[in-house]
Amino acid sequence: MRDRVLFSLEGPEPGPTLVVLTAIHGNEPAGVEGALRLVRGIKEAGGLRRGEVVGLVGHRAALARGRRYLDRDLNRLWTYSPGEVAHLREGRERRALTRSLATIFRRARGPVRLMDVHTTSGLGPPFTVVGDSEWGRAMADRLPVPRVLGLARRISGTISEWLDRQGVGNLVLEAGAHTDPDSSHRTQQVLRLSVTLMGLVDAGALDEAAATGELMSLTRTLPPILELVHRHPVRAEDRFEMRPGYRNLAPIRKGEVLAHDRNGPVHSPLNGWILLPLYQLQGEDGFFVVVPARRYPEDGTLRPAEEEVLSSRAESG
Ligand SMILES: [Zn+2]
Repeated sequence: MRDRVLFSLEGPEPGPTLVVLTAIHGNEPAGVEGALRLVRGIKEAGGLRRGEVVGLVGHRAALARGRRYLDRDLNRLWTYSPGEVAHLREGRERRALTRSLATIFRRARGPVRLMDVHTTSGLGPPFTVVGDSEWGRAMADRLPVPRVLGLARRISGTISEWLDRQGVGNLVLEAGAHTDPDSSHRTQQVLRLSVTLMGLVDAGALDEAAATGELMSLTRTLPPILELVHRHPVRAEDRFEMRPGYRNLAPIRKGEVLAHDRNGPVHSPLNGWILLPLYQLQGEDGFFVVVPARRYPEDGTLRPAEEEVLSSRAESG
């Protein structure tokens, strides 16, 4: 089994620390591979200039078995106290992971930021999920992939939410499909850009222009900021089954049959783009619907997009 600490790089000068958290879902090994590729790139470029980059494995036991989780989803139980989840295998993983994070905080020579890397069961382009972290929002602004607002508020118990409460700047990256060999490559590209934007290496050292160009070519037909407006929850007894072939961020129409469950067809409630369609057995979210965000929420409040704007954008997208 892999060590929890995948690597730890340190620059000669003090500076911020970037923690790359991988495989908090054990069936998402592309994050591990992408983080290891980042390390090779940094070493080839002569190492970090300042600060630190640390790679962590979130769920070691599930990663070893290739499963999303064993007893309960490790990325849904961060609202509980450690005692409440101590009987779960995920409770033990969480305790060990928080110990690793505490060590990183103790040793840090500057602010600590965390990038939580995921992949999805459906194919599709990379995107970021922006929560309440100011650093996360600022970083998402600079990365050439779409960012999704509002998802963080619909899913409770994530490590991202927990980090927000601790005041730790963080951002979630969804890098593509679990099974897509490009997912680790995209992870590496986004991490290269992040390391460069944080000033941990000199501009140009990690060839960020090429990474920017490649990522932009994957996402240029999409609005840069999307807002989540619908979640379809599922329980095991629903016998929920997505219709095959939906990619992440594919345009969908109001009334379109997206899935079937024990009550019959499941329709899209509005025009927009589908997000995170469920093509695996484990999971509590059937799919989400996102629409273009009207504007960036400077005051923290979101304005729902107008229906007519949505439909015209959906057709051109
Ligand atoms: Zn995940």
